[in-house]
Amino acid sequence: MKISNGAWAPLLAALSLCGPAHAAVRIVIGPTPIIGGEARASRAITVINDKLAFALALGTPPPYGVPRGAIVDVAPVRAGRVGHDHVVFADFIPNAWSAWPNTYQRVRILERGPAQVVIRTRRDWGKVRIETTYTLRSHSDSIAIRTTMRNDGTEVLKNLLSGMTLWPKGGFLFGVPGVKPSVASGATGALADRVVAYDRHWTVTLHAPYLDHLANESRDLFRMHTLAPGAPATFTARLQVGSSCDLAPVVRADIAHFHLPPARVHGAVRTSDGRAVAHPVVVALKQGHTYAWTCGDNGAYALDLPAGDYSIYATAKNYSQSAALPLHLGAGADATFDFASLRMPGRVRFAVTDAANGAGLDARIVIRKGVKPAVEFLGRRTFFTQLGRRGIADFAIAPGHYVFAVASGGGFLGPSRDASVDIAPGRTTNVKVRLPRLFDPRTRGWYSADLHHHADQAEAVTPPADLARSQLAAGLDLLFVSDHDSTVNHAALQRIADRRGVAFIPSIEFSPSWGHFNAYPLHLGEQPGIDIGTATVGQIFAAARRMGAVVVQVNHPFIPYGYFKSLEQGVAPGGFDPAFDLVEINAANFYDDDKVAHAVWAFWNAGHRYYFSAGTDTNDVWNEVSGRVRAFAHLDGKPSALAFAEAMRGGHAYVSYGPLVYPSVMFGSDLKVKPGAAFTLAFDFESVAGLKSAALIERGAVRATKTFAGAPRRAHADFAASATQATWFSLVVEDRAGHKAYTDPIWVDPVRNPF
Ligand SMILES: [Zn+2]
Repeated sequence: MKISNGAWAPLLAALSLCGPAHAAVRIVIGPTPIIGGEARASRAITVINDKLAFALALGTPPPYGVPRGAIVDVAPVRAGRVGHDHVVFADFIPNAWSAWPNTYQRVRILERGPAQVVIRTRRDWGKVRIETTYTLRSHSDSIAIRTTMRNDGTEVLKNLLSGMTLWPKGGFLFGVPGVKPSVASGATGALADRVVAYDRHWTVTLHAPYLDHLANESRDLFRMHTLAPGAPATFTARLQVGSSCDLAPVVRADIAHFHLPPARVHGAVRTSDGRAVAHPVVVALKQGHTYAWTCGDNGAYALDLPAGDYSIYATAKNYSQSAALPLHLGAGADATFDFASLRMPGRVRFAVTDAANGAGLDARIVIRKGVKPAVEFLGRRTFFTQLGRRGIADFAIAPGHYVFAVASGGGFLGPSRDASVDIAPGRTTNVKVRLPRLFDPRTRGWYSADLHHHADQAEAVTPPADLARSQLAAGLDLLFVSDHDSTVNHAALQRIADRRGVAFIPSIEFSPSWGHFNAYPLHLGEQPGIDIGTATVGQIFAAARRMGAVVVQVNHPFIPYGYFKSLEQGVAPGGFDPAFDLVEINAANFYDDDKVAHAVWAFWNAGHRYYFSAGTDTNDVWNEVSGRVRAFAHLDGKPSALAFAEAMRGGHAYVSYGPLVYPSVMFGSDLKVKPGAAFTLAFDFESVAGLKSAALIERGAVRATKTFAGAPRRAHADFAASATQATWFSLVVEDRAGHKAYTDPIWVDPVRNPF
């Protein structure tokens, strides 16, 4: 799109009340007209003007078990046509993603248009009343959202993290500029108060002026506060919707809202041989951080910025990036800045093979050095080989010098190799990579799966075929999917698994607000048939078994909305229900691993046979690594979903971030011994990174540790043991990279002669 001179001024807001009649804002009650929207019930409310549409869930539960009455669909409107839904959930949450005890939701339409629509939602969160009003004016591209919390209890609620969230559906996320993306942090250094979800043809921006903390890579914009009885806390925010990739309107909103001195830069973007770049993107950096971009058209661009110092560069999809050049913009400036050096896309074709036999290997290819586009639809940083042609990857990419890290087996089966490649514009470069495979646990009956993995439902962005490519590249033996409260990807993954001749474990992640559970294997595509947002733990477990589950796994048990955490806080409906089987080591919450291990060991000490499981919780295979932690299960015959689940339930398994473990006495089995007599527990180990140590755990305490000098890739350890009463032994193995494996226990049962 071309930005006209008139459009850039913040004056735009003043025009908002004098649009033509068709720009009026209106309400639709019933299934939302937003394409792909979730608010499908007869009571759902959709608000529409000429720029955007949003829908509140009524009658259908919102995701993640939050109460009804929240925004679950947001779409741009183009030329009077309502577009696709781009959010899973975009609304207020009272204390990060902790459980949400709720007894009512009251939604009222306060104004019905045509100048504006105002809707009020009242919900309770424990003893706190939460009132949110949503206002959309005709012709406005932003929903104004104002939430007030009121504490009707007698207790002071300290250190609450409250605020708006933006959980997009598909596309990419441009986090708060200046703050390093991470799970959770303060917002120190933030250069703006907004997060942008975007793709080539849309943006949804959450502006959160109250922001002082953020979480989940900026999906959650919080203020940390204390809520005293009677004292209200108010949060105002805006959700802005755009119908192109352009962030110029977002920056204009920043300028208008904070009364910043406006300035502007515009110019031409051409290739090195003088042709106009059809769809250029010009990126502005502030203090070295990506701050904003504009999507130009036909070789021209214009971007409003608050006055200040920037550096800017131009690029385009799979084009080279120009050098970033300094730009000083004084208040009111309108600078001209042309780019004339872009080089057109090149192509690269990888053939990745097993160094030993030349067979094609599924591989993950990551740019280590080279162009890594900040605007993510311009080009990926991670690539996978194809499903059909093993070991082949063929893709367009910006020209230039690259170092690619090429890996097959996820660092568990062999090392990765670097490939140094120069890619020329307009040409295909062929790259052959031969990878050594060091280990093959399958030959000893050990098979691996990543038992927590999302595809493309809810906030996840990985289509089933890409999930399969990523899991196969990681060297996982069975494919696995667990989407939030959804089984829609089962059929597609079963077809892929059949074509590739591998087994597939169909799962689901039950996701109420107070605990997440994976259940597997399920009858293909079977639906839960319960309202997960209001169900008790017993009802969820019963649904899991009805759907075919052999195992139910407690996911990330100690995170704020984990089941064990909610049990500690007394907010899990139905309390403790012992009818689960596995407890998850979750790579996305690795800082809890030690706590999870101790919780599982405490169960073993009490004689309860809950065993370890492991998953990465991957949503986006290009930015997260499938199989980074995984479960290895010992199978007697061919791998199948059922055999794998049964081995997990029987404890014939271990979980690992790297080391491979082979026990002489199978994990999960009962070893009968003479009381007090010495016996030996023997283990083989393998590790691509090199082994560091193996600790023998008895009843939750380290009984003996073997350290391995020189970080060998293969090692053996014999542990001498004896027992006079029933006990158990397990291992914690560590490699030189600090990656650990936790094994299930060997149960030891000393038996006295009764005769
Ligand atoms: Zn989860």
